Amino acid sequence: MNVVTEVIQASRALATAGLSDMVWGHASVRDPDGKGAWMKASGYGFEEIDADRVVLVSPDGDVLWGAGKRHLEFPIHTEILSRRTDVGAVVHTHAPALSAFSSLQRDLLPISHDAVPFAHPQLPRFTVTGALIATQDLGRALAEELGDANGILMPHHGAVTVGPDIGTAVMYAVLLERACRTQLLADAAGGVRTASDEAETRFKREQIWNPSQLNAGWEYLVRRADTEA
Ligand SMILES: [Zn+2]
Repeated sequence: MNVVTEVIQASRALATAGLSDMVWGHASVRDPDGKGAWMKASGYGFEEIDADRVVLVSPDGDVLWGAGKRHLEFPIHTEILSRRTDVGAVVHTHAPALSAFSSLQRDLLPISHDAVPFAHPQLPRFTVTGALIATQDLGRALAEELGDANGILMPHHGAVTVGPDIGTAVMYAVLLERACRTQLLADAAGGVRTASDEAETRFKREQIWNPSQLNAGWEYLVRRADTEA
């Protein structure tokens, strides 16, 4: 799969899944030759992305391919890709439920399938700033606090998810938003009384969110985005 096509598909899938924040938020794919991150250009919404609105950004912030402008927060992508050799794609979103949930400073509990990739161990929370990740130093700090996790909540800002491929990174972003929304719903109804324990969570991670299942969800989102285009 061509990296430009992957960025287009990811952007449109995120729009379809309701993770848009007007023209902000972005998905990236690692450049196969190690030059940086392929991601959407700034100034456009997820659903507006086509091949003319994709750029290749170097770790220093140079646009190496494409006519568009880069996002200020490119270091999220380039620094995570630099630190995590197992990661092939990164998603950053300001989606509403995960933003609301991260302000509660509460653990995300596996009360639905959606939270399973982010519990036992609990996903980290970024502690350095709630402002834009607009410098390489902040990108490195974010990558450091992400550690080996699938994602990180960024209180006062949003979240980042990662995966070995773009489908996994997008699905983790979608699942994280849904998991946060579900817990907000339970909390609003009186509070969570029961959740999967560590053993059940680990079992469900293999049973429900194995690579085949993640790919099925990703392909569904791509098909839905195509029909909405
Ligand atoms: Zn942001």
